[in-house]
Amino acid sequence: MKLYSTNNKNNQVSFKEAVIKGIADDGGLYVPVSLPQMQEAFFERIEILDLQDIAFAVSRRVLKEEIPDYELFKIIRSAFTFTAPLKPLDNDKNILELFHGPTLAFKDFGARFLAETLSFFNQDEDQKLVILVATSGDTGSAVANGFYNVSGIDVVLLYPSGKVSKIQEQQLTTLGGNVTALEVLGSFDDCQRMVKEAFNDKELKSKVKLTSANSINFARLFPQSFYYHYAYSQLERRDMPVIFSVPSGNLGNLTAGLIARKMGLPVKKFIAALNSNDVFANYLKSGTFQPKTSVRTISNAMDVGNPSNFYRIYSMFDGNLNSMKEVIFSQSFSDNQTRQAIGEIYNKYGYLADPHGAVGYLALKEYLKEYPGYYNSIILETAHPAKFKDIVEENSGTSVEIPESLVKCLEKKKKSIVVSNNLDALKSILL
Ligand SMILES: *Cc1c(COP(=O)(O)O)cnc(C)c1O
Repeated sequence: MKLYSTNNKNNQVSFKEAVIKGIADDGGLYVPVSLPQMQEAFFERIEILDLQDIAFAVSRRVLKEEIPDYELFKIIRSAFTFTAPLKPLDNDKNILELFHGPTLAFKDFGARFLAETLSFFNQDEDQKLVILVATSGDTGSAVANGFYNVSGIDVVLLYPSGKVSKIQEQQLTTLGGNVTALEVLGSFDDCQRMVKEAFNDKELKSKVKLTSANSINFARLFPQSFYYHYAYSQLERRDMPVIFSVPSGNLGNLTAGLIARKMGLPVKKFIAALNSNDVFANYLKSGTFQPKTSVRTISNAMDVGNPSNFYRIYSMFDGNLNSMKEVIFSQSFSDNQTRQAIGEIYNKYGYLADPHGAVGYLALKEYLKEYPGYYNSIILETAHPAKFKDIVEENSGTSVEIPESLVKCLEKKKKSIVVSNNLDALKSILL
């Protein structure tokens, strides 16, 4: 498969190069030149496939010339050691639980596939790869976990000091080994900027083999498309239009859904559910993309003021706003609305949603109000409610059970290096 840079359609690379580089030399993001369609037979028989079967079928369709079947099978088997069950709320609303991986959030899917893929591509090289990640919480822990103890690879994480939850911080800072956590005195946007600058720095480029593992890396994005197919396969009946509500920040998850749709998955609409960081919803309304400084919310993994996958989506639609609006709906919600939604979902359906899933629920409700009809609707539940225990308990009036893996992590000692929010601070560590 070939991928082009969003900054220049003629700048094309192989999958391997896109995965190792992360970001194009011209600063653009990689987008597939074309995507193959899944065969009809795949969709006709999809209900007999489990997540690993689907992951193998879809990735083989795209990567058969890049990774031998046997290796691809190994990658899938090692990456997806957990599943993604679809839970009905009522007759037409479902929740896709994406939090059954080791760090209890959906980013495990992308991070683990990327880790396995990179280690496959780097197995014959002598220089170590350094994975550089800016995280607002959940990316970092998923990436750190995915790469933990993978030989030939070091991980450097940047997270904004005081702006991630206690649990997130423990997950980021307690692994040790080949994982270094940098506590940046600044915002998530500062962390993201520092990473971008590091990738463009000549000296670093010549001395360190850097790669990214954010939703910037295509190999993080692509495996997230598998669970959209898997959600579809678990529907009771597939004869009503399918809608996905996607709690969104950097828009990587949404982009993965669009990839699944391009490969033939029959999706009527994607809903980009946003907290007060409403840049993408404003874009769909006004046609102007205007990044802002991010604001803090209780769904903090979505606190993004300059969503990095915007230009991927833009180029997937050739910049055509109207065709984008045919496929994507977007709406933003306040923390107060999110709190109320947590209570409502529990009282109405007996389901405990985390704040991100609650924003997904709100956006779906809004869509159904504006466009009433019969749908198969699926809300992506991106994190385990235990990661946001206090907020969930306060607003649902019930207690949240903490999974044992999380209890263990909370008991470990935090190890981080405090750095200021500029490139020089990062460089002195990397060099
Ligand atoms: C990262 C994250 C999101 C946002 O996903 P994007 O791909 O950045 O849009 C939503 N919810 C949770 C729990 C996350 O960790």
